[in-house]
Amino acid sequence: MQLWRHSDSVRRGAQVGLGHAGAPMRHSSAAARHLAALPPAEVLYADLDGTLLGPGGSLLTGPDGGPSARAAQALVDARGAGITVVPVTGRRALALDGDTRLLGLRDYIAEVGTVILRAGRRRYEWGSCPADLRAAAATPRAALDSAGALDVLLAAFPGDLRPFLPWDADREGGHLLHGRVDVAVANAALSAQGLGWAYLVDNGAAGGWPGRRVRAYHLLPRGVGKAVAVADDLAERGLAAGQAAACGDSLEDLTMAGVVGTYFQVANGHGEPGGNAFGVPGAMGHGFADAVALLVAARGR
Ligand SMILES: [Mg+2]
Repeated sequence: MQLWRHSDSVRRGAQVGLGHAGAPMRHSSAAARHLAALPPAEVLYADLDGTLLGPGGSLLTGPDGGPSARAAQALVDARGAGITVVPVTGRRALALDGDTRLLGLRDYIAEVGTVILRAGRRRYEWGSCPADLRAAAATPRAALDSAGALDVLLAAFPGDLRPFLPWDADREGGHLLHGRVDVAVANAALSAQGLGWAYLVDNGAAGGWPGRRVRAYHLLPRGVGKAVAVADDLAERGLAAGQAAACGDSLEDLTMAGVVGTYFQVANGHGEPGGNAFGVPGAMGHGFADAVALLVAARGR
């Protein structure tokens, strides 16, 4: 495999950009100018599904469904340039232990920012979880369970909400559910039981329930999220926001723009880039590769 030079990546971006009326290319050059005013990026926080990974959660599948090594090469390029890539995902921590090893990575932020693994040490973000519950529980999920938060929701929506198996099993930060509910009604039910510190958040369309059009939901303590976890992780690394970048595709991912120097939104992403958030030409893993190319080029100045 060859290591792409900056000029290659710019040409590649230009080729891709031509197919998009030139707009993504303008974003990329604006991102390059933005990066030129920042210190070198030390860390890149990257969402997994729809960002680093292609269709089917595959590292080696391009956004068109065909084979592609661009995202894998970008991981190699980042490592070679000294940029630490940290997955930031809604996936459960248990799975990340294996996934990160396969990707040649070490640290991760899992379960929507509730579980942080750094330098082999696991810790939790508890958000607004009351101190007494926190003191008595091993994990935020255990605190939610001991408070009865899941029971309240299942009772409020009988037959319309259930654990999203197998993906909910062995989670540590919260619960992953699926079904069809009114989130405002769910959160009012929690508040009515004195559990306003917990909340249900819509995670988008999901499957796994034959015959029904369902959505996935996270049950979490309020005050947690990808941005909070990234900010705390950066502080523990002794890094300033300007020394970090993030890349993603969802609105939750876009919140990371507020705590890093530069945010890259892949072409399949949702949300309006602006300020320090830039669209990149590529979708999914190709967009991740575009972000890495920009960061590596900026480090090489
Ligand atoms: Mg995503």
